[in-house]
Amino acid sequence: MILEKYSFGIGDRFCHQGKAQLSALIKAKEQGLSITPVWNKSHREHKIIGTKPADTRKEALDAVKTLQWDGPYFVDADHIGPGNVDQFIESSDFFTLDVADFIGQPADKADVDDFVKKYSKYIGSLPIEGIERNLDITDERIRAIAGKFLLAVRQAGEIYRHIAQAKGAGNFITEVSMDETDQPQTPVEMLFILAAIADEGIPAQTIAPKFTGRFNKGVDYVGEVTAFAKEFEEDLAVVAFAVKEFGLPGNLKLSIHSGSDKFSIYPPIAAALKKLDAGLHIKTAGTTWLEELIGLAMAAPDGLSIAREVYAEALNRFGELCGPYATVIDIDTAELPTADEVDEWDGQSFASALRHDQSCGQYNPNFRQLLHVAYKIAAEMGTRFSDALDRHEAVIAQNVTENIYERHVKPVFIGSP
Ligand SMILES: [Zn+2]
Repeated sequence: MILEKYSFGIGDRFCHQGKAQLSALIKAKEQGLSITPVWNKSHREHKIIGTKPADTRKEALDAVKTLQWDGPYFVDADHIGPGNVDQFIESSDFFTLDVADFIGQPADKADVDDFVKKYSKYIGSLPIEGIERNLDITDERIRAIAGKFLLAVRQAGEIYRHIAQAKGAGNFITEVSMDETDQPQTPVEMLFILAAIADEGIPAQTIAPKFTGRFNKGVDYVGEVTAFAKEFEEDLAVVAFAVKEFGLPGNLKLSIHSGSDKFSIYPPIAAALKKLDAGLHIKTAGTTWLEELIGLAMAAPDGLSIAREVYAEALNRFGELCGPYATVIDIDTAELPTADEVDEWDGQSFASALRHDQSCGQYNPNFRQLLHVAYKIAAEMGTRFSDALDRHEAVIAQNVTENIYERHVKPVFIGSP
C-alpha cells in the first residue's frame, strides 16, 4: 500500500462527521487536487469517548460509500504502542507507531558502537541539497543521537514486525511518531533517526517529528514562524536525502501532528512543499469536534443549550480536563467567560467566540482551548449528545466541511495564488 503525495488526517472524536469531512476533500478534488483521507483515532481518544477501532472503520466506510469516493482512504491507529496495538490490527491499515516514551532510554553500548561505526562516513561537513549550510557531523554527535533514539527506533521495529506478521507486510502504511516528547528534533537528529529506521527495516512512509515552537490544541502556532519555516524546509531536505541514501520508501514524507488551526505557519509550509516538490501528511482531529459545538450553538435553542452545558461543566472540571493536556494548552483563566455570562449569549455569540477567526473581535482562544479538551463531557452525555448531532446534522456538517476546506486544505495544499 502506497500513501499518495498529499494526505489529510481527519480524525473525528465521535465518528459522526466522516461524510462532512470527506466532502472537503471532494471539493479539493474538484479543484484538481488529490488528497487521501485518513481517519485517525488514538487509543486514548477511544478510551475517553467509549468508541472502538471498528467504529472508525465503519465511519470511513459509510462516508466513502455514501459519497461514492473512489480514491484511496485509510484508517489510522494513531499513537499506538506495544500495549494496545492488537485492538487495532483488524480495523486499521495505517499504523502510527509512537515510541516517544522510549526516547532518551539508553541503548545497548555495543549497538551504539555499531551504529556510530556504520555511519562514520558522514563525519565532517555534510552537504545536503536544499540546505544552505553543510551539516556539521561529529563522532560524538552520532553517538549522542544513537544513545537517545536507537532504543526507541528498535521498539518501533518490534511493533512494526508484530503488525506485519498479523496483516502481511505491504498491507498497511507505517508512520513513526516522535512528536509527544519535550524536545524538538533537529534536522541532524532526523537524519540519523531515519538511518536507524532503515536499519530496522521499517518501511516508513511518514515520520512525525516534534517541531520547534508550540502546537497548542485548536489554536494558532506559538513561536517564531521564520525559525519553524527554516526547520521545516531542512527536514524536507533531510527526508529526500535519507530516501536516496538509506533506501527508505520513495514516498516517505513528513507528518504534522496537532496540525489543525496553525494558520500562521501554513503559508511557509505551502511554499516549502512547492519549492521542494514534497508531499505532506497533516493530522487535524480536534478541530472537527469544535465545529460540532459551533454547529450546535447555531441550532438554538436545543443545540445551544447543549453547547452551553458542555462549557459550564468544563469550567467546573477545569483541572481534571486540562491536566492531561497541560503541555499543549495555554489558557488564561481570567479571560474565560463565566457560565452565567455564556447563558446570556445567543447562538451567534457562542459560535463567534469559539470559531477560529482571528479577525473577529469576539473570538476567544481561551474559551476555544477549554472546549477543545472538554470532549469528555460530551462523551459522558451519551446519546443525548449524539442524538443532538444527528438532529442538527445539516448545520454542523456545513461548518465541518467549510473549516477543513477553507481554513486548512486551501492554505496548506493550494497556498496563496
Ligand atoms: Zn501526535
